[in-house]
Amino acid sequence: MQIRQNVSLKPYNTFGIDIPAESFIEINDHDALADILTDKSLPAKKNILGGGSNVLLTQPVKGLTILNKGKGIIKVNEDDEKVWIDVNSGEVWHDLVLYSINNGWAGIENLSLIPGTVGASPMQNIGAYGVEAKETIESVTFWHLDDKAYITLNNNDCRFGYRDSIFKHELKNKVFITSVRYRLNKIPTFNISYGAIEQELEKMNVTELSIKAISDAVISIRTSKLPDPKQIGNAGSFFKNPSIAITQYIQLKEQYPDMPSYPVNESQVKIPAGWLIEQCGWKGFRDGNIGVHQKQALVLVNYGGGSGSDIWALSEKVLNSVHEKYGIDLEREVQVW
Ligand SMILES: Cc1cc2nc3c(=O)[nH]c(=O)nc-3n(C[C@H](O)[C@H](O)[C@H](O)COP(=O)(O)OP(=O)(O)OC[C@H]3O[C@@H](n4cnc5c(N)ncnc54)[C@H](O)[C@@H]3O)c2cc1C
Repeated sequence: MQIRQNVSLKPYNTFGIDIPAESFIEINDHDALADILTDKSLPAKKNILGGGSNVLLTQPVKGLTILNKGKGIIKVNEDDEKVWIDVNSGEVWHDLVLYSINNGWAGIENLSLIPGTVGASPMQNIGAYGVEAKETIESVTFWHLDDKAYITLNNNDCRFGYRDSIFKHELKNKVFITSVRYRLNKIPTFNISYGAIEQELEKMNVTELSIKAISDAVISIRTSKLPDPKQIGNAGSFFKNPSIAITQYIQLKEQYPDMPSYPVNESQVKIPAGWLIEQCGWKGFRDGNIGVHQKQALVLVNYGGGSGSDIWALSEKVLNSVHEKYGIDLEREVQVW
């Protein structure tokens, strides 16, 4: 166990923000986890970091930051149609997607190439191209930092919602997710209804649909649309797509006939946050080292050397302008530290 002091987190967050952690440890397995988390000689405050692809570091990080790299996948059950696997939380998410595809197990292929770790997948119920992690998560096991015990929550108790779960509310900063149990399908049901997947498959001349073909299509779309954090610092979508009442939408639509929407339920619709931000003139905005991506207004970027507090301040301006123009409140998807 090697604990270091005053460690720059620049290599560990995809925004590339250069901010120090007071204390820092990298763990490669979870065997000694309970010892570390209960060691009274270590700072009481613990910060769990996976791939750092959904955090904005705005100030020096107090306490002990734990970089989670504990890996491992085991098959725990199967029948003719399904397979259940326990995946340690430090596994890279996209490696799990590829592992599933190689085994012919369907369910997460639409979530190809989402950066980060398995441990963060239940956190905000990661989603893309019409699929969310909650559809395949059977249960989540974590160490409760206050109760000092391992607990397993089943899918229902995780209270998954759109980019949301209990881990962003009651259990925020209270748990170290150690493993996630996924239920994958041996008999695939393909989901190509969303976005440009179908067009991409056509472009790729795919004649026989497969989970590998869908994954390849998603990878191709994502690499053409989203900035690569290795080149430009970013955390993907900075804001969630807001849901508003249909009555409010009807009023707005009279004033802004082009406003797009997607049905949520009988009383709510979702408005693409990227459209709202673009309409407020932010797309491609740049202020020194930070800005709003040229191709995707939902993505705030660090061109290099930008600070987390500057990105935070820019996000405030974006929020305020959308509120002023449309009366819609955006919510940040990114976790602010
Ligand atoms: C280019 C790009 C594209 C993206 N596209 C998508 C997308 O399509 N869909 C989507 O949903 N997200 C997307 N994201 C956001 C991000 O990839 C996901 O939210 C991802 O799950 C974050 O994983 P991470 O390991 O990097 O989490 P981190 O950034 O390390 O952590 C995020 C939060 O989760 C907590 N956390 C992490 N691991 C644990 C753990 N083991 N136990 C307890 N808490 C933990 C952290 O404390 C922090 O609060 C994108 C990001 C980028 C940079």
